[in-house]
Parts: sequence; structure tokens; C-alpha cells
Amino acid sequence: MPTYVVHYAEIGLKGRNRSDFELCLAENIRTQHPAVQKVRRLRGRMVVEAEAGIDLRGVFGIAWWAEVDQVPSDLGAIREAVLRAVPQATTDGVRTFAIRVVQGDRVLAMTSQEVETELGAAVQAEIPLEVDLSAPDLTIFVEILRRNTFIYTEKFGGPRGLPVGASGKMMGLFSAGIDSAVATYLMAKRGARIELVHFYALPNGKIAHERKVGGLARRLLAYLPQLTIHYLPYHAFQLATADLPVQLRRQELVVFRRFMARAAARLAVEHGALGLFSGDNLGQVASQTLENLAAVDAAIQMPLFRPLISYDKQEIIDLGEQLGIFEIAKRPYKDCCSIIARHPATVAKPDRIEAIESMIGLEELLASVLAERESVRLESAAPLVERWLDPEDLRETAVH
Ligand code: ATP
Ligand code: MG
Repeated sequence: MPTYVVHYAEIGLKGRNRSDFELCLAENIRTQHPAVQKVRRLRGRMVVEAEAGIDLRGVFGIAWWAEVDQVPSDLGAIREAVLRAVPQATTDGVRTFAIRVVQGDRVLAMTSQEVETELGAAVQAEIPLEVDLSAPDLTIFVEILRRNTFIYTEKFGGPRGLPVGASGKMMGLFSAGIDSAVATYLMAKRGARIELVHFYALPNGKIAHERKVGGLARRLLAYLPQLTIHYLPYHAFQLATADLPVQLRRQELVVFRRFMARAAARLAVEHGALGLFSGDNLGQVASQTLENLAAVDAAIQMPLFRPLISYDKQEIIDLGEQLGIFEIAKRPYKDCCSIIARHPATVAKPDRIEAIESMIGLEELLASVLAERESVRLESAAPLVERWLDPEDLRETAVH
């Protein structure tokens, strides 16, 4: 059964809450990898046993991990495991090696350096390798804890960050474009449990889900234990603003942005989320001037985080490509924001915004749009579980 040692990123710094963070990470490892049979918490690390090989690159909170040989912590057993590790690793021209010993617990009456020397000599007695401590071809890592010792030769980098769920819940404004997809990844990386709100211009939420949003969400699920998406229709807003006088037209987009933020804030309160986030970026498009972003914030009573505020487009695309989400995110899609205004105002005008909002009957419009919501929950267990929810199910999530 493959066994892994997992070292955490910042969890180590969390003092009193450390145990909560560890439990959250352990649960995410299980949920995201159904092959996992057992997760044990040891001092400052975890041991994971799985019935098949797993790749932990998608579990936030992990600094690095290694597949290990696990043996009892006595020198004889450790020596044998080290010797086992060498031939496996010397197939492709390995000439030099080093042993790195870390003693998490003091069980051998020797310093780590003495153990390294002893194990190094044992290797050299069997195999003609030279010791090179600065740039060895092969490093054999030996992590000695009270009961067990872990031997490994390769470390894999994790995504770092905090375990999803450790920082509470956030409601994201998700357009299915690259910016809000990358923003979702970044907020999850800081430990936020995520729910998303998507406004569609298609006939219904299920079609929007099938057309694009669901496909992108499934990719993001590589980094999340679960994801809920709320679909809200854009049509009612479109109808309500159909007859706006020309002099108000250019403020319509910022009014819609405020409308989306308000709807998301309502859902956030309902579901226990303390903040919103979006893929906004300062100055990237006309609607993202500081004036317009501020006008959106002024419409709601909770923080709206914008993790991409300082990124440039290429940085966002590069990250999206690295995450395997760019291909889907750039696919064409009927996008409500592009329907609205070809030339939106760059400066929000509070009096005009107010005029539009009173003209369209904001409160009733909001209530009717929220009443038409369709919600789906995706769980990252394999095979993927995707379940459309009724309001009862949503009440359950709010309690969590
Ligand atoms: P993205 O790549 O995320 O679509 P963008 O650069 O295209 O962003 P806009 O389309 O102006 O910029 O949208 C800015 C932000 O507003 C988005 O990142 C998203 O958070 C939110 N947003 C836009 N359209 C929608 C929508 N249809 N549903 C939910 N949120 C949306
Ligand atoms: Mg967009």
C-alpha cells in the first residue's frame, strides 16, 4: 500500500488552532483522494496510506510530500530500508549520494550527523558510490520519529496555502472567464471554502452549466473538496433596463455590477459566507476604473475581495495555463456583461445610478431573481458527484 509523508505549509505557524487546521487538511486529503485509506497525524506532519498511488498537488496547505518506505525506528531496520532505496534509485547513472537525517523525536542515542555517517558507510560497503554533500546525484532522506522512520529519495512540491475550509466561506462572482476562475483558485488557496454565483443570459441555469460554467468548475475541483454554484438569470434585469433613457445607458453596466454584488451578498448571508470575491482587476477594462469598483463596493455591506487587483493580464493567463483552466475559460460564451454596454462609463455617477435603481424597482427585481435560482453542488470524490439541490439541501450547508 503506497505510503506518503505530508509536510504542511503555513499550518505550522498557527499555534492554538493548529489542530483544527490539521483536521481540515486531513479531511480534504481524504475527500479529494478517495483512494486514501488512512491519515495519521504525527508531530508536524501526516502519514497517508492509500490503496493506489495519489498525487497531492491539488490539496492546499501542503508544502511538500514524498512517497516513503515506513519502518520501525531502529537502526537495523533503517539501514535495510536505506539499502533498499539505493538500488532502486541508481538505475540512471547515479554516481554520488548523500544521506539527510532529520530526527523529529530522539529515539536513537546518536546525533543526526552520526546516523548519517553510519548509514553512509553502510551504503558504501554495498555499492561503489561517492559521498557528495553539496550536489549529490541521489539524496536519501531519513525522517526518524518515535515509532516509525520514513525513508524516501524524492520530494514533490505541494500547492502551499491553507487547507480549504480553514478560513471560512466566501461567495465568488463567477463569469466563467479566466479572471474569475483564477480568482477562485487564489481564494481557495488562502483556505476559503467557496460557493459561486453565476448570472446567465441563456435560457436556464442547467444550460449555462452544460455550456461552459460546469466544465470550468470541474477543472477547479482539482483544488477543492467541493464547490456549490448558484445560477441566477439575467433576463429580468435586461427587461427592466430595456427602456432606459439614453443619458443613463452608459451607467447600466455599473448598475448591473452592483446588482450582481447585492444578489451575491444576499446568498452569502444565507449560506454563512462572510465575504465576496470577484475577478476584477484595476483598469483592465472600462468598467474596472477605481470609481466603478468603489461604486460596486458601496452597494453592499460586506467585503468584496479582488485577489487579481494588481495582476496584469498576461500573469493571469500564465497562471490559468499552469492550472489547466485557460483552455476552457477562453472559450466563447454568451456573457451578460458584454450584452450590456459597448461603451460603459468609466466614471460612476451616483445620481444617475440612483435614478436607474429606483426606475427598475431594485428590491423586487432582486427578490424575483433570487427566487429563480438553481444550485448545483460538485464534490471532488471520484467518480465526480454532481447534484442539483433543492432549498432544503441548501439549508444544510448554511449550518456547516
Ligand atoms: P472574467 O475573465 O472573470 O470574465 P473579465 O476580465 O472578463 O473577467 P468582466 O467581464 O468585466 O471582466 O467581469 C469582472 C468580474 O465581474 C468578473 O471577474 C466576475 O467576478 C464578475 N462577473 C462578470 N460577469 C459575471 C457573471 N455573468 N456572473 C457572475 N459574475 C460575473
Ligand atoms: Mg468576462
